[in-house]
Amino acid sequence: MQINKQNLETILKSRFGLETFREGQLEAIHILMEKNRLLCIQPTGHGKSLLYQIPSILLDGVTLVISPLLALMRDQISQLTNRFNICAASINSDQSENENNKAKIITKAGKIKILFVAPEQLDDIDRFDFLLALPVSLVVIDEAHCISTWGHDFRPSYRQIIKLIQSLENKNPSIKVLGLTATANRKTEEDIKLQLSTNMPVLIQRSNMDRPNIRLSVIETSGLAHKLFNLERLINELPGDGLIYCSTRENTELVADYCRKQNLKSAAYHAGLASEEKVKLQNEFIQGKYKIIAATNALGMGIDKSNLRFIIHFDVPGSITAYYQEVGRCGRDGLPANGILLYNERDKIVQEYFINSSQPSKKDFTQILEIISSEAKPANLATIKRLSGLHPTRVMVVTAELLEQGFIHKTKLNNSQVYLITQKKPKLDLTRYNNQYRVKTNELEAMLNYGEQKNICRMLILRTTLGDELAEPCGRCDVCIQQPNTTKTNTTQITTISNWLTKQIVSIKSVRTNNIAEGMTILDGKLRSQLFAQFMKHRTRNDSEKYLGLDEELWNSIKTHLSTLKKKHRFGILIPIPSRTWVHSKQVAAAIAKELNIPVLLDFLFWQELPQSRQGELLNNDQRHFNVDKKMGFDRKQSKPKGAILLLDDYIGSGATISEAARVLRKNANLEQEIIPFTIAAVKWKLGQSGMV
Ligand SMILES: [Zn+2]
Repeated sequence: MQINKQNLETILKSRFGLETFREGQLEAIHILMEKNRLLCIQPTGHGKSLLYQIPSILLDGVTLVISPLLALMRDQISQLTNRFNICAASINSDQSENENNKAKIITKAGKIKILFVAPEQLDDIDRFDFLLALPVSLVVIDEAHCISTWGHDFRPSYRQIIKLIQSLENKNPSIKVLGLTATANRKTEEDIKLQLSTNMPVLIQRSNMDRPNIRLSVIETSGLAHKLFNLERLINELPGDGLIYCSTRENTELVADYCRKQNLKSAAYHAGLASEEKVKLQNEFIQGKYKIIAATNALGMGIDKSNLRFIIHFDVPGSITAYYQEVGRCGRDGLPANGILLYNERDKIVQEYFINSSQPSKKDFTQILEIISSEAKPANLATIKRLSGLHPTRVMVVTAELLEQGFIHKTKLNNSQVYLITQKKPKLDLTRYNNQYRVKTNELEAMLNYGEQKNICRMLILRTTLGDELAEPCGRCDVCIQQPNTTKTNTTQITTISNWLTKQIVSIKSVRTNNIAEGMTILDGKLRSQLFAQFMKHRTRNDSEKYLGLDEELWNSIKTHLSTLKKKHRFGILIPIPSRTWVHSKQVAAAIAKELNIPVLLDFLFWQELPQSRQGELLNNDQRHFNVDKKMGFDRKQSKPKGAILLLDDYIGSGATISEAARVLRKNANLEQEIIPFTIAAVKWKLGQSGMV
């Protein structure tokens, strides 16, 4: 078929039921069909999928769409197949092996026009070879900024895409490549261009990044209670439904709980939920069952609700690009919408934590290399994860990098993908990761600046940061109209919220190693309550025999929480963790045991060897773990405890001491009953430096 305006418009009408192309769409399809390489940078909701759906009809063979957005894949496949009569399938880890095999068979039989693949699938040798054997005519890279280390969301698996394109190109030199992204500044753009231009130049199409129906504003807040106060007011004032973005799972639960208490229909959404639960929540939200959903960025673009009227950021996100993407999810129907950031400077601590914890260190590389070279049997990913003890994502990142730099190679052995050391001994190059660290730190800095400044148009900042050089002041944001989005703070209401916050139960997550059940803590350090400060101060002081460092209010709170725990477990015994600093440890243990009407085993656990440092002085959780590991012992002369164990400590930080106590109880004392940790307070340690957050 000839590719001219008329033909393309006919397809648009007959297959997609649309009257006209949006600005730039027709041109983009033309470029792709004739020049073969195109990188499209345009805002979310600009109809990017049409740019490959139409070419897939025009071209023979398969269109391969590599996309990390699993939720979006599901929606697209049913829409393409049922509504537009374009057969589509997908291969991803959310599907069963059976479903993936079925997709492979029908694609191989030539029945599929568009095949969606998650980038991680390319890491697998068999999948890579399968894709290479297909008659691919167009490769689409969704979220193309993930290819670049200059992008905020670099993913090592994306580097496999370049390898795939090069291999496909050897078979079919005129293969077409389309990169799509909503967020690429000039530097990222240059880098993507460089990587995609394997044997021909890449053309760029960049759209205006303005979202003329979104009104941006920032509200400065002084802490959690103040944030909730503002949030409640905004939700009551703003029409329609909205999303509340939080940076942690805990905060999504907290926001949803608080809103429910105010009779606002709300739910929490985060990566910890089961897949069915996530799908159910999304559907219910689309149907209008909730006024708000408090979500982490796990909700991503999976949510297909065009009439979101507001996006409120309860916490500061890590970058302008992330913020633009998230806030851009409101008002996709073109009607007025609000994007509001509840700004608190202290939020940066969480983001800094994310940056530091995602950064692999030189030690991680050498550790994984050592594991791979020293294992008698070739190691697979599961073995490396188990032996290194590193975060699974970090293991993936480091392994992918070692592969790329030629330190290791992969092969199949008994149906499992294993890694082997190569003979070549190159020098490890960590430039990429140092680069990423700088990029992320600078992006966080820019985001904080967005929250703090009061003189430059907000939309202008977002657009220029994203490389849109035509940006002008929007005339709608709080800066442009010189109207801060605030009300007078009501101190009584804030005190009520603070009190509610201190009464919230903080759970201690269950741990599979040594089988530690979910536990509970009373005082959440991040709330900085009076009670918390008092407890932490008095726990090391021996002021009087009678005063245990627990005020009446705190003691009442402990009793309430214990009665909740008591309904869940049949406690048989209380065992305190030995403490060098908590002077009232034994008295408090005895008081709690009396309250629960169970015996207490004082001195059952003790330090065989004293840890070298206090946990708070150390720099990261690996050090904290090492500090206490294998240092505790138990008293063999005492009779074996019976019934569920309540394991008491003054506070929990990294959880390393509780893990060590559980190890002794399980491995050394051979106890099999439930172990439930209970602490008075919870603190969060800084990462990379000593002290609490
Ligand atoms: Zn403005």
